[in-house]
Amino acid sequence: MSLHLSSSVTAIPGIGTLAAKDLKNLGIVSVRDLILYLPYRYEDYSVVRPISSLRHDDAVTVTGTVRQIESRASKNRKVTLTEAIVENESGEIKVTWFNQPYLEKTLRAGFRISVAGRVDSRFGGVRTIVSPVWEPAGDRVHTGRIVPVYGLSGTLTMRRLRAAIEHALSVAAELVDFLPAEILAEESFPARDVAIRNVHFPESRAELDAAVSRLKFDELLIHQLMFAQVRKERAVRPATAVETDTGFLKSFVQSLPFELTTAQRRAAWEIVQDCAKERPMNRLLEGDVGSGKTAVAAIAIAGVLRSNHSAAYLAPTEILASQQHAALGRFFDGQFSVGLLTASQAKIGGDSVTRKELLAAVADGRVRCLVGTHALLQQGIDVPDLALVIVDEQHRFGVQQRKMLLDRLPAPHLLSMTATPIPRSLALTIYGDLDLSILDEMPKGRLPVATKLVFDKERAAMWTRIVVDVALGRQAFVVCPLIDPSDALGAKSVTEVAAMLKRTLPRTVRVGILHGKLPSDEKTAMIAAFRDRSVDLLVSTTVVEVGVDIPNATIMVIVGAERFGLSQLHQLRGRVGRSDIASTCYLAPDGWSPDAKERLTAMTRTTNGFELAEIDLKLRGAGNVFGSAQSGFPDFKLATPADVPLMKKTRDVASRILGADPELDGHPLLKEFVSVSLDEVHLE
Ligand code: ADP
Ligand code: MG
Repeated sequence: MSLHLSSSVTAIPGIGTLAAKDLKNLGIVSVRDLILYLPYRYEDYSVVRPISSLRHDDAVTVTGTVRQIESRASKNRKVTLTEAIVENESGEIKVTWFNQPYLEKTLRAGFRISVAGRVDSRFGGVRTIVSPVWEPAGDRVHTGRIVPVYGLSGTLTMRRLRAAIEHALSVAAELVDFLPAEILAEESFPARDVAIRNVHFPESRAELDAAVSRLKFDELLIHQLMFAQVRKERAVRPATAVETDTGFLKSFVQSLPFELTTAQRRAAWEIVQDCAKERPMNRLLEGDVGSGKTAVAAIAIAGVLRSNHSAAYLAPTEILASQQHAALGRFFDGQFSVGLLTASQAKIGGDSVTRKELLAAVADGRVRCLVGTHALLQQGIDVPDLALVIVDEQHRFGVQQRKMLLDRLPAPHLLSMTATPIPRSLALTIYGDLDLSILDEMPKGRLPVATKLVFDKERAAMWTRIVVDVALGRQAFVVCPLIDPSDALGAKSVTEVAAMLKRTLPRTVRVGILHGKLPSDEKTAMIAAFRDRSVDLLVSTTVVEVGVDIPNATIMVIVGAERFGLSQLHQLRGRVGRSDIASTCYLAPDGWSPDAKERLTAMTRTTNGFELAEIDLKLRGAGNVFGSAQSGFPDFKLATPADVPLMKKTRDVASRILGADPELDGHPLLKEFVSVSLDEVHLE
């Protein structure tokens, strides 16, 4: 069977049903998906040097003959060591693998192989390459080059994924190049298929850089074109002018359980004024975690409900939707009833109802404020007289998803909210004529979260402290990088950590578990239990990352903290410090690479999201794009805030193209790609 972009990944040698399942978890089903799955970093194993010159920590490829190979149990009998000597004309070096005893059978003495890895001389002073990748001498997929490193899932190994991608790239030429020829020429970009091939297996740093620029350009250009289209469609539509009842709004603000910050007041007023216009609002409310965006949203919604129109509030996860539903209910205090719709829940106020009952109440106007997840975007859900749509954590939704709620007449006003600190100028470059409100001030009385680095030997003391705090009525989040134990070295899972805590902590400390794979009613129940204080310690994955607001939780422990990016750490830390009680964030790394060290120390130095975003950028370096999924930069897989010049350029190119060809009819490939991108679902 011949291979095509549209073939299933199982058409690739070495990818069976099990591997296909793991790939599916990564969003990869077809060969096309596979070659569009980009590395998040690279190892530079292009250096080939005489063995005699190798020093500790050098990253190298050594090609030579296996002189001897044998396996033995380690001293503590916990691992099997397979040790080999590889030699060539420049000398010999020891190579060690852990728990791969079969290698003894695969790699016999006399085999010619290439191994790539780091030289370590800490083992009794003997230079050793530890856990290297290997392949037959002469092959250049895993060694002897700049080697791509991909995110993995399940039991899929790097070796297998890399080999599969290398194989799949044989059909890269089927990729259409949608960039107009004159732009390709102007920018001297490689063709799209070449760029894709080189972003996986570059022959040089320069080739990689050129490929990355091309792909970033594509991403940003498509984005500009999508936004332009949505904007154009919206701009010609009238919106409902929501009457401003200043007296009502004042008394509503007074009824809130706290005094608004000046920034909240200003933002709320800007929004209310926008909603009073007949032109659809297109505003982004940007505020660091904990700055109080919900209250601002509540004021806008109250204004809309007061003048007898409807509002919808879109949240990225079920946990958040039900939390925000409850928060709005508290703010409105019986004045307006708030509905909740998610995949598994329907509520009116505090009461569970059937989905049908809820939709009936929405249809006849009894419920005019509807909070929900993407369940709100399904066909057949109609909110009559919808004047305002709020999209919380907007970057978690695709452009098309946001558009679905907005595609109606009159056009609803749109308020997007984000905790990502995007500088004003950058936001304008990315989103064009979007209006921006920034909450640059924290509610009064907030104490900065004390952030501490906790190393192995201090962990016991940390848990003891936490037990004391729990006895005093405090609660703690314990975030782990994984759900289940994995054989990846050192990675701590929710399951392992929860079991350890249950075993070692006093019985009085009630431990709960939360992660994305739990059925959603169990998730909701667990968050509710934590909120009601019937759980003291919540061991979870990063599902608590966005938006979860439980002010009594004042302790955040991040296990394996070195595995998280700065913006993620900042988001996680933002789950505590949400009241006037002093909070602590413990960063407990399992390993300690130089850049992890810089990231984690930066966390201890500042709690300011803008500052951390800047530090993040510096640490990444402008050229280093990968892992930007972690940089929390909305909408983009590749581009980072450092790519402003490229953003400006794509904006200009987009307007030039659209100026000459508004419907893109003269650019059918581009048009097709924009429309496919608009349809892409971005939610996990
Ligand atoms: P975010 O901006 O991260 O979405 P939230 O809206 O969840 O933040 O608000 C964080 C917490 O601060 C909530 O418990 C909220 O009730 C509270 N809060 C919001 N505004 C104020 C304020 N002006 N004064 C005191 N507490 C506030
Ligand atoms: Mg929020």
